[in-house]
Amino acid sequence: MADGEQGFGTRAIHAGQRPDPTSGAVMTPIYQTSTYVQDAVGEPRGGHEYARVTNPTRGALEGNLASLEAGRHGAAFASGMAAIEAVVKGVLSRGDHVVCGANVYGGTDRLFRTVWSRFGLDFTYVDTSDVDALSDAMRPETRLVHVETPTNPMMGLSDLRACAEVTHDGDALLMVDNTFATPYLQRPLTMGADLVVHSTTKYLNGHSDVVGGAVVTDDDGIAEELRYQQKAAGAVPGPMDCWLVLRGTKTLHARMRAHCENAGRIAEHLAEHPEIEEVFYPGLPDHPQHELARRQMDGFGGMITVETGSADRARRLAEGTRVFALAESLGGVESLVSVPAAMTHASVPEEKRRAIGLTDGLVRLSVGIEDPDDLEEDLDRALASL
Ligand SMILES: *Cc1c(COP(=O)(O)O)cnc(C)c1O
Repeated sequence: MADGEQGFGTRAIHAGQRPDPTSGAVMTPIYQTSTYVQDAVGEPRGGHEYARVTNPTRGALEGNLASLEAGRHGAAFASGMAAIEAVVKGVLSRGDHVVCGANVYGGTDRLFRTVWSRFGLDFTYVDTSDVDALSDAMRPETRLVHVETPTNPMMGLSDLRACAEVTHDGDALLMVDNTFATPYLQRPLTMGADLVVHSTTKYLNGHSDVVGGAVVTDDDGIAEELRYQQKAAGAVPGPMDCWLVLRGTKTLHARMRAHCENAGRIAEHLAEHPEIEEVFYPGLPDHPQHELARRQMDGFGGMITVETGSADRARRLAEGTRVFALAESLGGVESLVSVPAAMTHASVPEEKRRAIGLTDGLVRLSVGIEDPDDLEEDLDRALASL
């Protein structure tokens, strides 16, 4: 662990931070400045030169996230997509090959398929829950393997230790998008991953009022490349947003326990519901990778996907709830409902959606931390109208 023997909750609240040296403020200030004074040419008074390169509020967040992911280096970016793009630009060169999970966040698929494939990078998509399929997809020029577990929205799991072994056998780097699980439930670096990426927009911030991203690594060389990307390309978050995410991570452990408890209860309830055909939630004993989830995760998370049977039924469920707001995104304290095929994953080609089982009848729930009775009643009422 990066911060000695301290527990997760203690690190969530304290890691990366100390009382402000100039004022004694216990909370890290929002250093809303673009530049820093120099006492002589090339001698910045506080060690900072320009805020694209470093900012103390951002630095505190980076230290906090690194500690939670049990890594040594954190780098914050302006969004989850900017974080993933920084890795692409930081570690890959023209001619390199990337193996990417077949079911990843729609925006990641779009970035790889429509943007980076135009710049001399080659992508293969494979079901990373099948380690043999991953192994078969590796080529001599494979430099990066990108895995999401659990996946969005199918909730499929990949065995991270096995993925790391195959990736390293091929002399490539393993990048894990840990947005759905959060470091409270799963720490990929401890299972062999080289890089962990996050959309801090989701659970880490947890209050749906920031768009942000981050990368954590243990590797000094990769960390150097990421800092260079912050400086050279500049997709950095502003100090106010860093401060908000830092406030969010202080309650990550408390929020995740409540998310897991509520989602577990709702998943069981929906599994028994006559209007629902199938429930995708790693905490249910009939989930195909339930045993892996027990082994690899410390809880099953707050995301549930259900099959309603048709696009029309999915739409009516999503439009029929009152406590669950119909919206993209996830991971906030408030419950959200969405229809992946028509919303978050609309940019994924239909053929590809079919291949991974992403049907038009799926509804995704981001279960918040409201009173579970109210959430259950809300879903029951909307389902009754189907
Ligand atoms: C939202 C999300 C992203 C993209 O993050 P942004 O902050 O929206 O750019 C990447 N991966 C996953 C799993 C996500 O849910």
